[in-house]
Amino acid sequence: MENKAHCARCRIPKPERVCQIESGGRGPAFCPTLNYSQLAQEVTELYAQPEFAEFARLASIQEAECYANRAPGPYVLQPEKTRIQETVEFARKLGCKKLGLAFCGGLQREAGLVADIFESQGFALASVACNCGGVPKEAIGIQDREKVCMGSYETMCNPLLQAEILNREETDLNIVLGLCVGHDSLFLKRAKAFSTVLAAKDRVTGHNPLAAVYTVHSYYQKLKAHV
Ligand code: SF4
Repeated sequence: MENKAHCARCRIPKPERVCQIESGGRGPAFCPTLNYSQLAQEVTELYAQPEFAEFARLASIQEAECYANRAPGPYVLQPEKTRIQETVEFARKLGCKKLGLAFCGGLQREAGLVADIFESQGFALASVACNCGGVPKEAIGIQDREKVCMGSYETMCNPLLQAEILNREETDLNIVLGLCVGHDSLFLKRAKAFSTVLAAKDRVTGHNPLAAVYTVHSYYQKLKAHV
């Protein structure tokens, strides 16, 4: 099937790309800027809707403010802010009073440190661990051989409950900390407030998924092999 969108495979030099320059740019056959130009116009109008307008504007301002010594003309990127600082500043820009922290129970200690930071910055915070509710895994059809520790009682990760609790806590912005793949998807689908991810769980790399990507040509070759 013809692929009309595959930016990951783009080899057009950045200064010549249709998505990067004001006019006269080019793109490959699978360029979504060229193949979905009408849609791009329609979607641009979405940013005028009240739900998105101010949020999008402030996110873009925050993006630029993560670089130091910006000035007109050629600029060499000088990033200066950690993601958690970026999150604090963005939440403040949005005027958030209360934040939600949806975290993995395996990161209880980190959740406490993150709570310290946001509360020190003046935000109220509601936090919910993934195992909240204490519902056994059997409730979603998990069999004993499908548990982490077979033969034991195991509480399910409950991202829908995390979301519903934070919905009732009326959080202005949610922060996701280390939820598992799939559990994060359920949380993001159900949470009413906008959510941002502080850290993606990776049990092996200290929650740095790109460590495996950066080493896929050496120590993580197995990621491209059918084993
Ligand atoms: S939008 Fe087009 S030109 Fe831009 S990166 Fe994607 S494929 Fe390349």
